[in-house]
Amino acid sequence: MRKTKKEKLALEIIERLRREYPDTRCTLEFDEAWKLLVSVRLAAQCTDERVNVIVEKLFEKYPNVKSLAEADVDSIEEIVRPCGLGRSKAKDISACMKVLRDQYACQIPRTFDELLALPGVGRKSANLIMGDVFGEPAIVTDTHCIRLVNRMGLVDHIKEPKKVEMELWKIIPPEEGSDFCHRLVDHGRAVCTARTTPYCEKCCLEEICPKIGVKK
Ligand code: SF4
Repeated sequence: MRKTKKEKLALEIIERLRREYPDTRCTLEFDEAWKLLVSVRLAAQCTDERVNVIVEKLFEKYPNVKSLAEADVDSIEEIVRPCGLGRSKAKDISACMKVLRDQYACQIPRTFDELLALPGVGRKSANLIMGDVFGEPAIVTDTHCIRLVNRMGLVDHIKEPKKVEMELWKIIPPEEGSDFCHRLVDHGRAVCTARTTPYCEKCCLEEICPKIGVKK
């Protein structure tokens, strides 16, 4: 089947970003899958750098799923408060760890739908786990992804994360999705920024990007 204009543009962007950021990876640090689940919940409205620092304390006190499931919510909240939304994040983490302990023998489930059913886990988090833990196809629509794919014309004025995800599934080869989204984060931080005018003049996509909505 012939490729659409958007598919061709997507492939070219994937290739150029791959050359620009060859060693991309998730900036949340983790050595066990359940820890990424905790970190990704804490990362809502908080920087990954801060989360990486806060979880050190949390995992030192509660080094496994069982101990965190047994911790009381107040104690979790006390540690995670600097990440913002402390109460709600602590409640979700506690409830999520209890489900892992009681239903999954302290492991994390392997399917997208099972991940999505966990307390505090949305599509973005479930996709991140599928991609980074299981190496499965994943599209992680965080704020960088949504801003960049709109500017690049890969989606047309869509801001709602699930809709963006669904549009991207149509044009991104599944096996490229996870790394592509990590590279969008790299590029969104370094070049196609949110808080300043994007640095189009030094962007590796300059001549192929339509720069939708970018003020000259
Ligand atoms: S050319 Fe400009 S708008 Fe397009 S991706 Fe690069 S920095 Fe962003």
